Order: sequence, then structure tokens, then C-alpha cells
Amino acid sequence: MPYLVREHLFIGNISDAAEVLQNGSEEITHLLSILSSASISFFTEWRSGVSIPTKEIRKVYFGGLGPEDDSGDGSKSLLSPEKLMYSLENAGKDLKLVRMAVPLRDMEGENLLDYLDVCLDFIDESRKEGAVLVHCFAGVSRSAAIITAYLMRTEQLSQEDALESLRQSCEFVCPNDGFLEQLKMFEEMGFKVDHSSPIYKRFRLKVLGDSYNRGERIDSSKFGADPGLSTKEVTSEVGATGNSVIVSTRAYRCKKCRRVVALQENVVDHVPGEGETSFEWHKRKSGNPFNKYDETECSSIFVEPLRWMTTVEEGALEGKLTCAHCEGRLGYFNWSGIQCSCGSWITPAFQLHKSRVDISTT
Ligand SMILES: [Zn+2]
Ligand SMILES: [Zn+2]
Repeated sequence: MPYLVREHLFIGNISDAAEVLQNGSEEITHLLSILSSASISFFTEWRSGVSIPTKEIRKVYFGGLGPEDDSGDGSKSLLSPEKLMYSLENAGKDLKLVRMAVPLRDMEGENLLDYLDVCLDFIDESRKEGAVLVHCFAGVSRSAAIITAYLMRTEQLSQEDALESLRQSCEFVCPNDGFLEQLKMFEEMGFKVDHSSPIYKRFRLKVLGDSYNRGERIDSSKFGADPGLSTKEVTSEVGATGNSVIVSTRAYRCKKCRRVVALQENVVDHVPGEGETSFEWHKRKSGNPFNKYDETECSSIFVEPLRWMTTVEEGALEGKLTCAHCEGRLGYFNWSGIQCSCGSWITPAFQLHKSRVDISTT
């Protein structure tokens, strides 16, 4: 039986969801299914002979066709289909239920953050129209993580307080440690997923590093847009819309040829002097009176991988980063990490030597 968490909000497992889909429910009008991608339309396989009618409303993929894909170098992403973010369908015996299915595995390294906005918004909408059951396979980790985030956002609770509050309704919930870390980041970003936050940028880099370590092919669709190309568009086209904000951003240019190689928004900050891992980066050492790192100037900046870094795409563990225009040396990349002159380890690292770039505000 699903557990009531708040008015019009339930948590449950896959049997609870199957029951609602097969026999309908007096109360539940919406389902949020969080399951591994293989079992996203699971009911036909899960109980042989049982087929639940569904009618697709829409499917939404990560990264869709962004503005940078129109600039000509987005063709590669067509070869590697984008990852499904969610599918929305009418489901159940009379197609009366609205079901959102989200592919997410119950693993510590799994990227929960990128799904939070759509899931929490769906829960909000569903509760206005009826009642929603949030379920995963066991009703212990994934669904609990999503509902914890929901309570955090709607009631401005810390991760700990939200989880504790959820346990009042359903005592055995237990999101995995990776999800708990991400929920803590969610809290520190102000109960939202702030893509411009250094917390989020470090997290994204860690996710990318993990997928490299698993042997997955890292293609340029996962990289940030080439700021050298975007800026050219803005300056050459009068009245270009949307990108104009770039004009006022701090930019890093190749010292030799002046091509823009990174924008401030591409920089992944680190705390000077700390041997950090991305999931622990925010746990700063406090009040060390002998902190000799305060005056240490970092000799490099670290950025997210960008589409001009063609050497990275070739799949090597490490290599040089050279300017896409003049082929001048700019720095190095290393998936296993690089140590900054301040002592910090950045993993994975995409490093630009400050001596090879100029800072400008164009
Ligand atoms: Zn440093
Ligand atoms: Zn150059």
C-alpha cells in the first residue's frame, strides 16, 4: 500500500504502481515512475500477459536542440541520440492516469540533480489536479530522494529535516549516499538546480569523469559550446538576440591569436590549496591560522570541457590543449586530475595556463 506523505502525495513501490495502473484508484490521478531505463515501460514484461494501455503525450530529451547546435558543429549529436529525460503518457485501464516515467538507476554515481526540476514541477502540478503516487522499484531510495527534494523545496527544509519528516510517514525510506550528497548540494544552491553555481559545475564534471572511467565514449555533445564561435556570431550579426549577454562576460583569449577560448561561466572554481574531491569540495577547512595558501596565486584556470577541445574527444586519458585557431599551446587535460600550483587536485582537469591566456571583457 502506498504511504501518504502529504495531502495528495504518496510514496510507494512498483506493486503499488501496478495496482493503480491495473485497477485504477479512487484517489490517485498521477504517477511519477522512477525506474531504470530498461524497465521504463515495464508492465508488459513485469507481469506476463498483463498489458496496460498507454498513450504517449510527449517525450523529452536532455539537451534537445540548443542554440549552439545551429552553429554547425552539432551534427555529431545526431549520431548519438540524446538521453531521455522523461516520457509523459496517459495510462491505465481507461487512459485516465497521467504518468511521467523518468529513467534513473539506484546508484550512487547516478545524476539525480538534473531530473529534480521536472520531477518536482510534475508533483506540484499533479497535486493541484488530483493526487500523485511517486514510486520506484522498492520505494526506498529513488522515490524517497525525489520526495525529500520536494519537501525541501516546498517547505524550505534542510536535507536532514526533510528526510526525517518523510520518515514520519514511511520509516524505511533510505536514499543512497550519492543521492544524499546531491540533495545537500540542492540545499546549498537554495533549493534549486542552479547551472551557474560552482557546486553544480563541479558536480557535472564529476559525472562526466565517472562516465569516462566507465569506458563510455565522451563525444562533443557532452561538452560546453565553443565560446569562440558564439562570440563571433554576436559581433558579426547586428541585432543577434539571445547571445547578447555574452558581450559583457569576462572572456579568456588565446594570448597568441586572441581567439576566445573560455568564458567566465565555463570556469570551474576550486578552493586554493585543498586536496579536494568534487563531492566534498564545499567542506572547507575553517580557521587555520597557518593557512599559507591564502596568498598563493593559482597559475591555471580550470574549465569544463569545451567543443574546441578536439584532442579530448579522441579518448586519451591525458593530452595537450591547443588553440583551435593558431594551434598555440594553452594547457593540458587529464581525466585522472591535475594539481594546480596552489596544491589543489582537480579531477578531471581541463587546464588553461594563465600565462597563455589574456582576460578581457569582450
Ligand atoms: Zn589553484
Ligand atoms: Zn590561438
